[in-house]
Amino acid sequence: MLDIADDPVTGFPRATLAHAPTPLVPLESVMRRYGHPHLYVKRDDLTGLAMGGNKARQLEYYFGQALAEGADTVLITGAIQSNFARQCAASARKLGLNCEIQLENRVQGMPEGQERTGNYLLDRILGVPVHLFPVGEDESAADDNLEKIADDIRARGGKPYVIHLGADHAPLGALGYVDCAREVLEQTEARGISLGAVVVASGSAASHAGMITGLRHYGSDATVFGICVRRAAALQHPRVLKRSMELAAMLGKPDLLTDTDIITTDDYLGEGYGKPTAGTLSAIERGARDETLLLDPVYSGKAYDGFLSLLGNGAMPADKACVFIHTGGTPGLFAYAHLWEPGGTP
Ligand SMILES: *Cc1c(COP(=O)(O)O)cnc(C)c1O
Repeated sequence: MLDIADDPVTGFPRATLAHAPTPLVPLESVMRRYGHPHLYVKRDDLTGLAMGGNKARQLEYYFGQALAEGADTVLITGAIQSNFARQCAASARKLGLNCEIQLENRVQGMPEGQERTGNYLLDRILGVPVHLFPVGEDESAADDNLEKIADDIRARGGKPYVIHLGADHAPLGALGYVDCAREVLEQTEARGISLGAVVVASGSAASHAGMITGLRHYGSDATVFGICVRRAAALQHPRVLKRSMELAAMLGKPDLLTDTDIITTDDYLGEGYGKPTAGTLSAIERGARDETLLLDPVYSGKAYDGFLSLLGNGAMPADKACVFIHTGGTPGLFAYAHLWEPGGTP
């Protein structure tokens, strides 16, 4: 493994926020069930910041950049039950910065009371100003509105930093998953086993792109299965490739990966973002009952559905470590309580 002092990742401003390294835990009962000796979960649901999740790692680089620019207020936009917005609010609290979040109504057909539970409840307890944005999946309108909020802050004499997640901005957050790739390689090496495969949810693609680019950066040829949670594989695949190439260039290695490194499947996506399938629900129940993992219906439950299915299909290497990345989402589970009420199953 690369000496940390020589690692180009350390050249980017970073705020220490996540509880890391997160544990790499053997999946004892899944190993028994599938007769596979080397299955692990990477507990990125335990990163801290008001109930954990993958955004803690990504926010380390956004807040690093915000601090480097002398910002006093950090802005972000996301879905009503956004884990990113909640961990952004928590990060700002930790660092003594202001934060304002915009929440978009992206998922139609959710029951009343979304503002009383899950991530939204935590946003309110964290006490950051919330701007509600009514239009569903219109990324550019939501981004424009966030810029207006930033202008208002400037007009009041503040220095806003806007976290841009769109594909036209550098994938700073993905650097956090280069860090995660390093941890996984160090942890499997410490157990004396080489890494064969990683399964991770693929949404904005920051985690997926960071993981595959990080693995190649540290010399691993392990396979990364990206489980689509936001859009069809035909759209997600080029997005992950583009983000990975940009990230590789940021690390000074523009030729690090090619199209064949990117694997995406939308077999577990169902009708789309925030819409769990029967498979998602049963994966959530398997996670809880076999391993006491608390997965969520939007992201990690779909990814775990993919993990178990790939295992069942024999798609995972049998003689190497296979790692499921638990990206968190625990608070979101409570916003979907209706699924476990009579008649609630999709
Ligand atoms: C955002 C999120 C994801 C998707 O991660 P990306 O880096 O956006 O692809 C997965 N799981 C959880 C719990 C999330 O909040």
